[in-house]
Amino acid sequence: PVSQAATAKPDNDRTSNPTDESARARIHPDIDDILVSQEEIAAKIAELAARVDADYAGREILLVGVLKGAVMVMADLSRALSVPITMDFMAVSSYGSTTSSSGVVRILKDLDRSIEGRDVLVVEDIIDSGLTLSWLLKNLRSRGPASLEVLALFRKPEAITVDVDLRYVGFDIPSAFVVGYGLDYAEHYRTLPFVGTLTPEAIARRA
Ligand code: 5GP
Repeated sequence: PVSQAATAKPDNDRTSNPTDESARARIHPDIDDILVSQEEIAAKIAELAARVDADYAGREILLVGVLKGAVMVMADLSRALSVPITMDFMAVSSYGSTTSSSGVVRILKDLDRSIEGRDVLVVEDIIDSGLTLSWLLKNLRSRGPASLEVLALFRKPEAITVDVDLRYVGFDIPSAFVVGYGLDYAEHYRTLPFVGTLTPEAIARRA
C-alpha cells in the first residue's frame, strides 16, 4: 500500500523564499529555494520512525541503506527507532555526476551479509523515475528475505507511475533537481541540513 505522504508547500505558501541576494547568501549562496526545511525533515523522520516501530514491534529490522544519498536518512532514522536494528549498505549507480538519469543500474558495493529470512527495510533518499528502486527490489527479493519494504524520504511525481510499492514516504516534492540532506550535485551539497534547488549559476559551474 502507498502511504500517506505530506505534500511540499506550494510557492505562495512559503514565508522564507530567498529571492533576494542577501537572504540567499545567509542560507547558502548556491541555493535557489528551500523545498523542505531542517525542522520539517526532523519532524518527518520522528513520525516515520514511530510508524516503523509500531509495524515491526517484536521483530528485528535489517536496514539497507542505499549509498550515498541515504546516509543522512539512515543516520537519523536508525537513531530514532526503538526496535532493534542492524544495518547494511549497498551502492548502486543510476545517475552520473549530472542531473539526468542514465537508466543504467550497476552494483558498486553489495551487501556484506545474506538477507535470507531477514525483515529488510530499504532506506532510500529519493525516488524519481523509480527505475533504480524497482531494479533493486527485484534483486533483493531474489535473495529470500522474510519481508522486504521500502522507506523513501522524498518522492517525485513521476515515481507514482512506476510499479514500486513504497511502504513509507516522507514528502512528495516537485520534479525539480534537489540537493541537501544526503543528496548531491557532483558530490557537493550533501551536508546541507535542508533540501533545496540550486541556482542556475551553481548548476552551470559544475556541469
Ligand atoms: P530514479 O531511478 O528513481 O530515477 O533515481 C533514483 C536515484 O537518483 C536517487 O536515489 C538519487 O540518487 C538520484 N536522484 C533522483 N532525483 C534526484 C535529485 O533531485 N537530486 C539528487 N541529488 N539526486 C537525485
